[in-house]
Order: sequence, then structure tokens, then C-alpha cells
Amino acid sequence: MKVWADLHTHTRYSHGRGTVRENVEAAIKKGLKAVGISEHGPANIGIGAALDDFKRIKEEIYNLREEYREIKILFGCEANIISVDGKLDLPEKLLEELDYVMVGLHPMVWGSTLRDFFHIFLGNFALKRIARLGPKVMEQNTRALVNAIKNYRIDVITHPGLHVPIDTAALAEAAASRGTALEINAGHGYMTIEYVRIAKSLGAKFAIGSDAHSPEKVGELKRGIEIAVKGGLTEEDVINAGRNWEGSLWRRI
Ligand SMILES: [Zn+2]
Ligand SMILES: [Zn+2]
Repeated sequence: MKVWADLHTHTRYSHGRGTVRENVEAAIKKGLKAVGISEHGPANIGIGAALDDFKRIKEEIYNLREEYREIKILFGCEANIISVDGKLDLPEKLLEELDYVMVGLHPMVWGSTLRDFFHIFLGNFALKRIARLGPKVMEQNTRALVNAIKNYRIDVITHPGLHVPIDTAALAEAAASRGTALEINAGHGYMTIEYVRIAKSLGAKFAIGSDAHSPEKVGELKRGIEIAVKGGLTEEDVINAGRNWEGSLWRRI
């Protein structure tokens, strides 16, 4: 399987180590045809990029496009879900400016309301200590993700199930119905082959991302590709692989 685009990379604008330029140069060295800068939304406690940073990132990307014609440089995000009813931490106007939208359910976020903060942050936090909360927390996490998929046009859900329990089948069904891909995160590499099989059987598409937090890790997709292949996926199933990479995500450019 050949993956041509790494859509999941971070820079110093959040808690990554490199600059936008360094991620782009690293992607060119790896032979990628497209690279996305996907910073955390502002609700991520301590690490999210501010809304003003997104303006700067956009400007940097547009300038770099002039300089590096050999690669497509995409303006993306990894937005946070900040309420159980599926609200994101980026305004609609910015979402429209992005080339693609990725969303992750991160437990360490400021909720939209105190109640949401309790459900998303404290629920997942307490679960580490109180196992019997499991079914309720899983139900809330899944509801938050499914609602976000229904509310917005989301291209990719990043690392589903990492740090937070979710109902695989329910998420895969919602994602399949809206054309939202589920990420196989090569950086964390936790996604099971069983998960991939279930999601594929329900019609879900996938994206493979590095979740690079330093330029050296950009385009490091091997572990994700292994999971995809073992899970029975072909290039057809992966939006940034094979021939799919062209024209699927970056239709907005
Ligand atoms: Zn993430
Ligand atoms: Zn990430």
C-alpha cells in the first residue's frame, strides 16, 4: 500500500517541535505528494493553538506553496469536541477556510459548559480509577463523536479510541454514513486489527496519519500501513493512499 499524503502533523504552534517549513521539507524528503499541518484546536488545555495562530499558519502555508511547487501543502486542523452534543472548538468561518477538517476526542479539553467539562474531561479521567463508570463514559464519548460527525463536515476522526473508550460499531456506522474517515494513527499504533475489520465491514473509510510532533516523524506511516493491511484494507479503503489521495481531501484547494 502506498500512502501519498500525511495529513496529521503538528508544529511549534501547539506542542510540536518543528516549524511549518520544516514539516514541509521533511515531507518532500520522504517523497510525499501532500502534507497537512493539523494543529490542535484552542480548547486543548495547555497545548492548543490560539485562533490567531491559525491565521499565521494559513499565511505561512500560502507563502510556502509559492516556494515548494513539488508538494501540496494543506491547511488542516485537529479540532476538539467540547460538548457531548458534538460542538467543536473552531468557529464555522475558520472551518470553511481549511482544506480539510480532522477532529479528535481529547480528554484534556475545556468543555463548552461546566457540565461538558465534567462529562468529557472528568469522566475519562475518573475512568482510570473507577472502572464501573466504563459503560456510561463510553456512551458519552461515542455520543459526542457521532453528534460532531452529524453537525459538521468532518474529513477524518483522529485516533478513535485512544485514551477514551468508544463504541467502535456505532462510530463506524456514523462515519460511513457521512463519508468521514477513521484514522489509523501510525504514531500511537494502538488501533487493533479487529477494530479495522469491524469498521470496514460497516462501510467506513480510513486515513493513515503519522501524528508527527517533530519533522523527523513526518511521513512515518509504516506502522499504520501494517495495521491497515493486516486488517484487510486495500488502497481503495484509505483516502490518502493509492489513487484516492488526489482529489478527495483537498477538493477545496
Ligand atoms: Zn490527537
Ligand atoms: Zn495529533
